Amino acid sequence: MIRYDLICEFSHEFEGWFSSSSDYDEQAQAGLLCCSVCGTFRVEKAIMAPAVKTARKTETRAEDAAKAMTAMAAKIRDEIGKTCENVGENFAEEARAIHYGEKAARGIYGSTTPKESEALKEEGIAAHPLPDIFVPETDADKKKLN
Ligand SMILES: [Zn+2]
Repeated sequence: MIRYDLICEFSHEFEGWFSSSSDYDEQAQAGLLCCSVCGTFRVEKAIMAPAVKTARKTETRAEDAAKAMTAMAAKIRDEIGKTCENVGENFAEEARAIHYGEKAARGIYGSTTPKESEALKEEGIAAHPLPDIFVPETDADKKKLN
């Protein structure tokens, strides 16, 4: 006995059992196949979607996207590390000094408390949150790793 997944003209899916594949062909040609749900004789073999293959493809695409993102983040991180100065916890103070012309204008990055960040915003000082992934490794981080 072999089993086929069948589908009728109204998209009812059901199983049909046949003694052989030629048994199926004979019954199909003679119009003897009948939908077990609605009784129509317009029935054919259901085309099985390759679900596993599709899932794997999607997974690969997601992995590729994640890799591309990581590579891009590394580039941005390097660029920030090369062109900006890490002022650490003095960020708010330094940003303010640069804004009021007390210190040379340059790219800086560091950390602020939410309160400091809010104060900078109120003073109209341009500062943008830097996602962790873009924060360059500090010497302290490197020491931690070693
Ligand atoms: Zn049907």
